[in-house]
Amino acid sequence: MCRTCIICRKPLNDGIIVYGKGICESCEKRLLIIDEETDFYDFYKNCIKKNLVRLIPRGVNENCRDYQ
Ligand SMILES: [Zn+2]
Repeated sequence: MCRTCIICRKPLNDGIIVYGKGICESCEKRLLIIDEETDFYDFYKNCIKKNLVRLIPRGVNENCRDYQ
């Protein structure tokens, strides 16, 4: 089974698994350096929340994708 990053949705070759969800290395690094008051942090939290609360089929997270 191929995991994808829940933030950027790229195939997950490295990085971390949080609660069974993958986050790629570049997104993880980005998280470590961002200010908690930035939009990205909110965006990230929403992504995590959405992904943790429900198992969503691919293609549903429009907001996450639009962010890029
Ligand atoms: Zn990523």
